[in-house]
Amino acid sequence: MNLFDLRIGLGFDLHRLEPGRKCILAGVTLPHPTGPAGHSDGDAVLHALCDALAGAADLDDIGTLFPDDDAVHRGQDSAEFVQRMMAEVRRQGLAVVNTDIVIATEGPRIAPHRAAMRARLGELLGVDASRVNIKGKSLEGLGALADGAGVAVQVVCLLAPQACA
Ligand SMILES: [Zn+2]
Repeated sequence: MNLFDLRIGLGFDLHRLEPGRKCILAGVTLPHPTGPAGHSDGDAVLHALCDALAGAADLDDIGTLFPDDDAVHRGQDSAEFVQRMMAEVRRQGLAVVNTDIVIATEGPRIAPHRAAMRARLGELLGVDASRVNIKGKSLEGLGALADGAGVAVQVVCLLAPQACA
């Protein structure tokens, strides 16, 4: 394999946590009194993952491909965004090597749900859960995020030609 065929992408997303919203992150519903606000289901992990895939595969970002003023996407399961991105990734002959994710929030606790999140993302990306790492990160009492008012997510994702997978 030519190392120049490897493609890396970076994604970031930030959502407000609001009472009465279902708390869905990385495709897993967490038991928590607030959840990410948004036009779709608000899943900030899947949104940042989509942008990491878009960055790696040189696609338009999630906001351009799936505009949040389009009524079609109201309340939508964000897994569908990832599936559509992955269809394009595969069409380009690429496959996911691994992804690494940081979820920064003082809202829901991430650690008890890591295994379920890794399994779900592995399914969506077509890789073993061991290639999906997820870390929860607290905010050390700094700012609005630390008051439990939001969730911020960073995702990095590496793609390689399918022939190498
Ligand atoms: Zn989002």
